[in-house]
Amino acid sequence: TDAHVAAVESARELNAFITETPDLAREMAKASDERRAKGEARPLEGLPIAIKDLFATRDVLTTAASHILDGFTPPYESTVTRNLWDAGAVLLGKTNMDEFAMGSSNENTYYGPAKNPWARAGDNRPLVPGGSSGGSASAIAARAALAATGTDTGGSIRQPASFTGTVGMKPTYGRCSRLGIVAFASSLDQAGPMTRSVRDAALMLGAMAGHDPHDSTSVNSPVPDFEAALTGDIRGLKVGIPREYRVDGMPGEIERLWQQGMDWLRQAGAEPVEISLPRTRYALPAYYIIAPAEASANLARYDGVRFGHRAEDAKSLTEMYERTRAEGFGDEVKRRILIGTYVLSAGYYDAYYNKARRVRSLIAQDFREAYREVDVILAPTAPSPAFAVGDLVDDPIAMYLNDVFTVPASLAGLPGLNVPAGLSDDGLPLGLQLIGRAFDEETVLKVGQVLE
Ligand code: GLN
Repeated sequence: TDAHVAAVESARELNAFITETPDLAREMAKASDERRAKGEARPLEGLPIAIKDLFATRDVLTTAASHILDGFTPPYESTVTRNLWDAGAVLLGKTNMDEFAMGSSNENTYYGPAKNPWARAGDNRPLVPGGSSGGSASAIAARAALAATGTDTGGSIRQPASFTGTVGMKPTYGRCSRLGIVAFASSLDQAGPMTRSVRDAALMLGAMAGHDPHDSTSVNSPVPDFEAALTGDIRGLKVGIPREYRVDGMPGEIERLWQQGMDWLRQAGAEPVEISLPRTRYALPAYYIIAPAEASANLARYDGVRFGHRAEDAKSLTEMYERTRAEGFGDEVKRRILIGTYVLSAGYYDAYYNKARRVRSLIAQDFREAYREVDVILAPTAPSPAFAVGDLVDDPIAMYLNDVFTVPASLAGLPGLNVPAGLSDDGLPLGLQLIGRAFDEETVLKVGQVLE
């Protein structure tokens, strides 16, 4: 813990943390030492980890990287973090992120962008770590935490893991409790581990997951021993290669890495099979209707009365609401609220929101059909390596395109894993993604370990 507290300090230029908790970390580590001395060590005893600032941590500032949550210290603990402390983990601090988890670069944050510890050969501009769980990814890549939590609504664990050469898993929707995680799009949000290795991801997920009677969408089934699934034996497994993921303009280096991944799995005894997920191209537009729609409803609670920031000197209640929200939310959050209220408004509900929901079930159906033939799907995680801070901030559509390979699994609720698999032509990490059947994280992790 002392070494990691020091590493968090020396990595400060990355702006990976919003809040550091060194005193709490030492206190927790001491309690862990005592347990270990008594021979009562738990699975993550004494392991220093970082928590995305979207998880409510009791008595520790929780901001969702938003000005509107200024000074909010929750009186309760999220179930996932509670599970991690019960397994013996130690809190190093709360990590930077895109505000309310909306973004793909960690630039939409009140606390200033987090940076990627990697740099492009011959170019000293700082790179984004991806988003929205960019601070967690950056902290892992910089060795400032052994592991971290992230959340993934449309790719926010997998894409930053790909940009930083780390492992990140979005479990099946319902595997982890959402209680105490600041809500973005409730039918998509899912917590997951961000780590250096697939084995660490298996251990973290084992501790994070589990039924929570206080979250009706958390599944009531036993948590498998994910680590035991890492046998290295993938002989005979069928690996789907979805033809529709070969999108126009896909960079050659991504295409080559994907091919390389297929070859590695074939050499390990698995069998790549070409499959079709015909509705893939509708996933991104459907996601950017459903996620903002749910966000606009979830974010209605930030009214200046219950949490954080409140505008001063308002002359009426309505003016207080309006000014609090105008001052408290950043531009991207406002854009999502506007899109969301538009697609949910009486005249447009059927044309946009209901249509998007129908598309969503067709996408889930595509996956169900594919999994009659194959055990797992292999695809790229992101369409490019990390880009420079500032490059896409003024182009929301280009930013949204980053999610093209991650949102289909999100809409279908399926587990997805990023494994670092190679380097781009200019020396940056590139990841491959494995997408599994619902509640079959074990196969995903097992195949992922062979790729790593
Ligand atoms: N980049 C996507 C978005 O901005 C995904 C975010 C996420 O998964 N939290 O909505």
